[in-house]
Amino acid sequence: MSRRKCAVITGSTSGIGLGIAEALAETGYNIVLNGFGPAEEIEAIRTGIESKHGVTAIYNGADMTSPDQIAKMMETAERELGPVDVLVNNAGIQFVSPVEDFPIEKWDAIIAINLSSAFHTTRAVIAGMKQRGWGRVINISSAHGLVASPYKAAYVAAKHGILGFTKTVALEVAQHGVTVNAICPGYVLTPLVEKQIPDTAKSRGISEESVINDVMLAGQPTKEFVAVEQLGALAVFLCSDAAKQITGASLSMDGGWVAQ
Ligand code: NAD
Repeated sequence: MSRRKCAVITGSTSGIGLGIAEALAETGYNIVLNGFGPAEEIEAIRTGIESKHGVTAIYNGADMTSPDQIAKMMETAERELGPVDVLVNNAGIQFVSPVEDFPIEKWDAIIAINLSSAFHTTRAVIAGMKQRGWGRVINISSAHGLVASPYKAAYVAAKHGILGFTKTVALEVAQHGVTVNAICPGYVLTPLVEKQIPDTAKSRGISEESVINDVMLAGQPTKEFVAVEQLGALAVFLCSDAAKQITGASLSMDGGWVAQ
């Protein structure tokens, strides 16, 4: 009997990572969830995925700033669910400040979580993927991997950096049935973003509709948010055989943001 494939998704207790985990589970992957949040909420997510999709989902709370915890998470994943076939490097944080005031610890945390964690997870799984002749690595970059905005020095540096990492690893494994790609989302309506709408409306003295259209979606030509389900569907496509010649690519899903 062929075994169920296994997908590890970092930062999958909320937002985009959770959307991708749901989409991969629906396709039949066993899932390793990772990220922070209240224990009972995470347990509800985990059991929800298992009961909705009939797969096994485990949770590992490794902190993506810790290479040791990342290594242990990848070992646990393989021990409990078998070889990791799909790795989605999604965990990420943001901090906004002019560069001269940018706190050093925020710079270090963003580089660690948004960039270096992908190196640590990838190096743990890539040899096995090569050996088995199949694997998919999907790195969640951003429109900010392709263009900049002021006051986001660390985030933009990390998101550009992950595109370079994506291309390099893609070349290293190109002849082994393993693809490595980056997805560059524009503004996505995650719970984190939703929560900011009423606060921003209040602080700027404008309507919630104006926050969405004139502040958040000012740079997004479709004037619509990207949905986590759409990103999940793109991840599923990248895992399909139809996508086997897509590698080293940066795939924008940004409502036209970087076309401008
Ligand atoms: P989110 O805050 O909803 O989710 C982030 C996830 O990462 C959560 O599960 C959180 O617990 C986890 N996380 C944070 N720090 C961690 C750490 N140290 N160790 C382990 N897990 C950690 O955010 P989101 O909007 O879903 O963002 C997910 C990814 O998508 C990020 O890399 C982000 O940069 C990228 N992205 C988001 C948007 C957007 O508009 N929301 C746009 C482009 C790219």
